[in-house]
This record gives sequence, structure tokens and C-alpha cells, in this order.
Amino acid sequence: MLERARVLDAGDPLAQFRERFEVPEGVIYLDGNSLGCLPNATPARLEQVVREEWGRDLIRSWNSAGWIDLPAKVGAKIAPLIGAQPHEVIACDSVSVNLFKLISAALKMRPGRKIVLSEPGNFPTDIYMIEGLENQGLAERRLAERGKLVEALDGDVALLLLTHAHYKTGELFDMEALTKAAHEAGALVLWDLSHSGGALPVDLGACEADFAVGCGYKYLNGGPGAPAYAFVAGRHLAATEQPLSGWMGHAAPFAFSDDYEAAPGIERLLCGTPGILGLAALEVGVDLIAEIGVERLYAKSKALSEFLRQCLAEGGVALDFVSPADPGARGSQLSFRHEEAYAICQALIARGVIGDFRDPDILRFGFAPAYLRFADMAEAARHVAEVLESGEWQKAEFRERAAVT
Ligand SMILES: *Cc1c(COP(=O)(O)O)cnc(C)c1O
Repeated sequence: MLERARVLDAGDPLAQFRERFEVPEGVIYLDGNSLGCLPNATPARLEQVVREEWGRDLIRSWNSAGWIDLPAKVGAKIAPLIGAQPHEVIACDSVSVNLFKLISAALKMRPGRKIVLSEPGNFPTDIYMIEGLENQGLAERRLAERGKLVEALDGDVALLLLTHAHYKTGELFDMEALTKAAHEAGALVLWDLSHSGGALPVDLGACEADFAVGCGYKYLNGGPGAPAYAFVAGRHLAATEQPLSGWMGHAAPFAFSDDYEAAPGIERLLCGTPGILGLAALEVGVDLIAEIGVERLYAKSKALSEFLRQCLAEGGVALDFVSPADPGARGSQLSFRHEEAYAICQALIARGVIGDFRDPDILRFGFAPAYLRFADMAEAARHVAEVLESGEWQKAEFRERAAVT
């Protein structure tokens, strides 16, 4: 398979982009869906922000370096990656905080309805944020299995909140069909794009989605804890009232008025002072993904994951596959179920093959196609086969649980 891999790598139109990232020697990184690699332009950009913009120009940089506009500027650069208009997206806060703002705003737009509908097994923070609002008496949580969501969309549902690509299995929702079904039931829709933005083509505009959030540190390579992003459809901007009415979301923050008046545009989603270092790093990652292009990334992602499957099959590895077999029906990942997934994952990491484990029994390989090679797939498959055959995962050191998995 290594031979085949070399041929595929030689014909790969994205091969040149690997050197735009720091990929550590001896590492096959199958976790770019959890924390993307460092773009090699990021350290110099951060050095400049720290030394020149902060160190030398100090507070003047809010204007001279454009810090004040950075959340909207980075948001506008994320917009084309998710089928949004530049004025509909802003980069700020975490996904969790943005979920809080947008769930609250949606509830306010649907008076008389309190239910926020999601699926069991959605990413925990999405479900917990609904629960938090339920504890405040502002929402009611309803969970329905994938196949039963449309049925569960009755006249009490204010908002349908779903994650486009499932974080464990990679299963995709049909965004267009579900958005339509929610609208027909009079509900709004909030899509969590954490596992799709920058990895798969998403068209919020064509789907007529109402709201969306997504993550900056996964496929956008913004660095650990990078700002997230939030989308509000232009037609809803004026009616979107979010409860974290901090001064940065004010129409005129520097008028220091006693009364809150939300900014007319997407800036109304801001709350406090934005973290400029995080935004500067995120901007580098977003620029790079935009330069490569999501369509090309997605095409290579599918080719990589299918090639890994072939390599595993040819190596005689029979893993219990939980991701959809059709590459068009899954996100940029492949997940497997194994009783000993934790220990196997640790044994692979010890060999430099970094994937991740998701409780209780999922081994997950993510494909960030900007910096992965087909040869990495062949090598990864060989390591998986060796780890399983040798039983080396049974060592005590691989079974001991770390705090962050
Ligand atoms: C990674 C991820 C998040 C992250 O939320 P934060 O508040 O930024 O930590 C949220 N939702 C989904 C679906 C994710 O995969």
C-alpha cells in the first residue's frame, strides 16, 4: 500500500500545503478535528502582535492595528467557508457561550414556545447549555433520536439545535431538509458547525439556516481555546436580542451611556473585550484554509479516509466501524468501536499515531487534509495492525486514564 500511497501523494494537488504547517517529525496526526496543527505563519504573526502592536503601540493599536474590528473582520473571512455573507458572522467567545446567546435569542423570537429540541448524544456542551437555560426557567429541553426529530417538531418547539457532523460517529445531518422541517413547524434552527466548518462544504445561505456556531481550534487551526464564531442570518439581525449585553455589543461602546442599545449589525453578539492574541492566531488559520479551499479539502478528506479503510482491510484489520460507510454521509473522520479503545488509542499515540478516544469505547481518527499524506494513512494502518496483533495495548501504562483524553 505504501507504493500506492506514494503515487497518490505525487498526484495530490494539496501536497504543497503540508509545509505551511508545523507537523512534528515522527507524528501521524489524526486529531486535527480536535486541535488543528500550528500554521507556520502563526508564531511570526503573534510575535508582531505582541512586540509591535501591544509592546510598542500600546492602546493606540485598538485603532491603528484595527483591533476593534478584528472580531467582525475574522468573522467575515469565515463567512465564505460556511455559505454565509460577511456581515452575518463574528468571531468571539467560545462555542458554549455563543450557544447560550443564540438559544436565548431564538427563544425570545418565539414567544409562547419554550422547547429546544436536540438529539441525545449530541456534543455535551450543546445539551448542557439548553439545560442551563431550563434551570433558569427559560427553556425546556426535548431530546429525540435522529430518526424521530421531524416527528418531535410540534407547535411547542422554539428551536432545533443540532450538530451538523456528529463528534463521535461523524454522521451528517441533512441540513437543508431539517431546516425546512423546522421552519414548517414554525421553529428556528441553530446549527453547530464545530466538526464541519473548514472541513466540509456548508451552505447556511442556501439552507436558509437561522443561526449557527462553530469552533476555531479544530479545522480552522486557530490554536488551543481559539475564539469560536457565531452566525445570524441577515434577515434576523435586527430581531436577535442576546442576553449577554456587554459593552462591546453596544451600538456605541465608547459613548459610555447608561442605557444599552444593541449594535445594529452582527457586533451585537459581542459581550466583553475580545482576546486579540487569540483572534490574530485564528485569522492566520482561517486565511490558510480559505487559500486551500474547502471543496478541495473535502475531496481529499474523503480520499484519505477511504484509503485508510482500504489499507486496514488489506492489512487484515477488522474494526467495528461506526461512521457511515458512504464517505459522502460522514464528516472528516472515521470512528471505530472497541472495548479496549482507550488502551489501543494510547498504544497508538506511543507510536506517534495520534488519534483520540471518546468515552466509552470509540476510537476516532480525524482527517485534516491540509497536512496529511496518503503515506500517513498506509503507515497508520500498519501501526493499527501491529498494535492489535501484538497485544501491546494490554500494558498497564496504556490503560491508565489521563485527565484529558
Ligand atoms: C468542540 C465542540 C464544541 C466546543 O465548545 P467550546 O465551548 O468552544 O469548548 C462545541 N460543540 C461541538 C459540537 C464541538 O465539537
